Amino acid sequence: MNDHPVFDFDNSYAKLPDTFYTRQQPTAVSSPSLIKFNDELAKLLKLDAAAMQSDSGLSMLAGNTIPDGADPIAAVYAGHQFGGWAPQLGDGRAVLLGEVLGQGNERYDIQLKGSGPTPYSRQGDGRAAVGPIVREYIVSEAMAALGVPTTRALCAIATGDLVRRETMQPGAILTRVAQSHVRVGSFQFFAARRDHGALKQLTDYIINRHYPTLADTDNPPLALLKAVVDKQAQLVAHWQSVGFIHGVMNTDNASVIGLTIDYGPCAFMDAYNPETVFSSIDHHGRYAYQNQPGIAQWNMANFAQCLLPLIDNDDEKSLAAAQEVIDSFPAQFAQVYLARFRHKLGLSLEEADDIKLVSGFLDCLAEDKVDFTNAFRSLLLCSVESDAGTDKADALQSLFSSTQAINSWLEQWRTRHEIETNSIESRSELMRRNNPAYIPRNHLVQKAITAAEQQDYEPMHELASVLSDPHSKQPGAEQYALPAKPEEEVKATFCGT
Ligand code: AMP
Ligand code: MG
Repeated sequence: MNDHPVFDFDNSYAKLPDTFYTRQQPTAVSSPSLIKFNDELAKLLKLDAAAMQSDSGLSMLAGNTIPDGADPIAAVYAGHQFGGWAPQLGDGRAVLLGEVLGQGNERYDIQLKGSGPTPYSRQGDGRAAVGPIVREYIVSEAMAALGVPTTRALCAIATGDLVRRETMQPGAILTRVAQSHVRVGSFQFFAARRDHGALKQLTDYIINRHYPTLADTDNPPLALLKAVVDKQAQLVAHWQSVGFIHGVMNTDNASVIGLTIDYGPCAFMDAYNPETVFSSIDHHGRYAYQNQPGIAQWNMANFAQCLLPLIDNDDEKSLAAAQEVIDSFPAQFAQVYLARFRHKLGLSLEEADDIKLVSGFLDCLAEDKVDFTNAFRSLLLCSVESDAGTDKADALQSLFSSTQAINSWLEQWRTRHEIETNSIESRSELMRRNNPAYIPRNHLVQKAITAAEQQDYEPMHELASVLSDPHSKQPGAEQYALPAKPEEEVKATFCGT
């Protein structure tokens, strides 16, 4: 052990009563080796990147040794999976090592995912294959770079052991970092048992850790509900604006601080089609792109249900207050969604018919199955000036097989820009910041995974590097902005658990 602790742990969740978790050590692996380490995140966490990548550091990140100050636990939670109730889930293949205080004194969980069985593993082996770990690393870090709230990836480690999936695959462990991992399902676990004491403790804990200003409001549980609804509306609007499909929006994957959590079957949409589903197990399209806002509301209704006993002693009053918050979700979502898409169109002022302008563009994309990301990015090259004609729109037009509809939309867009007061440069910058050039396209992620399965991590490193700056044009990275060729297309994704 080093003289200096690698982590300066300051644990809080492990101080809650043991009804919230089981103390659980990770299970050692054969021969840990580094797949990728995130230096930038290490800085944010005030960690010594060199120490973490030393043999003793990697040994800790593999779960082979327990760092000083760690108090490893597997948290319990429940959840609705594809709408069906599961009374007990929990960290089946993860342990929370502890919490650290990063820059700005922000508290972060340090979790090992794929670290061996726990009492919540059910039939699972507690392990993760390298494919899903590489996917989570790439996509969660890409989301962070896009500005979407998300869990983060500090380190991916190859275990040197094989895990049995459809085939035998190399095992891996991800060090997942988040401001917390508490889910709607964490509340549901106690609500279903009518353990109001634990519910109150969890509510107080979350308010204290994440929403401290709510403690002084008239009704903190109701204020918490509003705050979480707000975070979820913001989150899903952000997803929609970058074409992200989560794929498994179960209540156990619904963060109470509005993070994107669980990168199982997630994928970014290429051609715009609101019905897009990738997850191979989502047979009815419950978690299709267009359903994400409605599902978020459904998840929030389940969260509200948990808080009812804390909102008011009078059941009717409690229900009425919670119902009002849940009913406000669609309007609230519509507002933040529109704000995001306005920015994508370079607009700052709010006009009554803006949503029609947004839908008009999306309809053009849907009609011609145009790449969502590249269509919005191409708008950057279109002149917003009315006298520009259509000659400054080649890049956008070239994405369409017939340009009639898009040209007529461009005219409306230019007319709408006439009332904007910002300079053309700042409108262009607004579009640049809201319309990424690079997203983790499925075929690129798949290539990185296929290589990683052969212990070649170079494609993963290259892809992650391009995605770390998604809004800037990167000379030499043009191929990362291209949609899949027909033979490269990835039509389904798998949980890979
Ligand atoms: P997920 O579909 O990843 O949200 O996982 C749902 C539940 O299954 C959670 O309780 C996970 O901890 C658990 N789980 C997923 N994969 C495994 C595994 N390989 N071993 C044990 N538990 C798992
Ligand atoms: Mg999950």
